[in-house]
Amino acid sequence: MKFGGTSMGSAERMKIAADICRQQKATRPVVIVVSAMSKVTDLLINTLRHAEGGDKAGVETNIEALRKRHEDTCRELLPPAAQTEAMVGINALIAEFQRITGGVLMLGERPPRSVDEAIAMGERLSALLIAAFLDSTGIKAKAINAATVIVTDAVFGNATPLMDPTREKAQSILMPLLADDVLPVVTGFNGATADGRPTTLGRGGSDFSASILAAALDASELWIWTDVDGIMTADPRLVKDAVVLSEVTYSEAAELAYNGAKVLHPRTLAPLVQKEIPVWSKNSFNLAAPGTKIVTTISAPGGARAVTSMANVALVSVEPASAEISGTRVMARALDALSMVNAEVLTFSSSSYRQSFCFLVRKEELSAVTKCLEDGLSLELAHGYLKPIEVDENVGLLAIVGEGMRGAAGLAGRIFTAVSREKVNIIAIAQGSSELTINIVVRRDDVEKAVKAIHAECRMSELASF
Ligand code: ASP
Ligand code: MG
Repeated sequence: MKFGGTSMGSAERMKIAADICRQQKATRPVVIVVSAMSKVTDLLINTLRHAEGGDKAGVETNIEALRKRHEDTCRELLPPAAQTEAMVGINALIAEFQRITGGVLMLGERPPRSVDEAIAMGERLSALLIAAFLDSTGIKAKAINAATVIVTDAVFGNATPLMDPTREKAQSILMPLLADDVLPVVTGFNGATADGRPTTLGRGGSDFSASILAAALDASELWIWTDVDGIMTADPRLVKDAVVLSEVTYSEAAELAYNGAKVLHPRTLAPLVQKEIPVWSKNSFNLAAPGTKIVTTISAPGGARAVTSMANVALVSVEPASAEISGTRVMARALDALSMVNAEVLTFSSSSYRQSFCFLVRKEELSAVTKCLEDGLSLELAHGYLKPIEVDENVGLLAIVGEGMRGAAGLAGRIFTAVSREKVNIIAIAQGSSELTINIVVRRDDVEKAVKAIHAECRMSELASF
């Protein structure tokens, strides 16, 4: 089971999480993976920025806030007899963080491996606290730093697990604990390279940590505890009658996560698909809600089942200025440039005699993307073979997802009609050959209208309750 930041957000929440552990552990062996307490990772990252900028006072203020949050939680959570030892642990971890920020202050820069070591401190603190609490209630538990279990490549900040060595370590470190009736409390988010350099799996990566461990341990199920009732037909802040889907396939869940649904980290499902380990997305704030089950195949009716949207995106367009230039070659060069900066292309669309094409990237990646494109295509641009690269930041991406969309004739037509009825102009369209997802790009101001129209047209709330 994995508990997210809000599920670990206070002493009260940790007690609820611990109670869930107690109940489940009574029925079968359980390993838990925990996020940092809510907002703590942001605080850690912000502290490193202050340190890099030489702002010593800012660093100290943040570290005091970090200390207070965890010491207060410790006092509220643990019986007095257990507090002393936990406080020693908290202080040691904060001292470690302080040592790293001291180094960053001195250097005036943030070496990636030190960043990864530092920002995993939130998970180590929360793991320590909940493990101590479980222990104090008579459930044997042990906090484990995932750097000793999850082996990754050396892409700091966005590492990928190496499954074979991870499996070996998970088996040799965690299995004996389970055999001893100890509940392992593993930190989410982090790992280490084979030679021991600390890494992290990307923001929100604790879900991924949990699925890596579930696969490595051949778990029978993975439960992901969050603060929403499950995977929904749409963002309930945009669509009032959005409802929870009781079952979705791995592919649907992955498409939804990739296209902006916040409930799961996009990389979570990959390790589980082959072993067909089912995932439950559940709400630790609403234990009565059944949640969403993610499995290989479902019996739900056809059609489009959910619609997501993403606003922090930008549309980049490239257009040849002369017919002499090979469009394919320009595309190849552009994609090559994008891969150099590891940018993710969210949708790609091309169809024109003019060989123009456009694609969508995340706003955070935009400046790196435009720079690499301009470098990669500098000759063509300089000689006027290409028009200047255009960027439109005033757009949003919608994704309409459903296994049942495959081969459903007329569906795209209905979606476009529904959108156009709202006078929403569609800027770009993309559909992969799996027919699982239709992506449309609209003006930012039209996102909400389009989401509502599509949700209603495809009768998503009704379909979900079958
Ligand atoms: N604490 C990390 C983050 O905020 C990882 C996670 O919570 O999944 O990104
Ligand atoms: Mg999360």
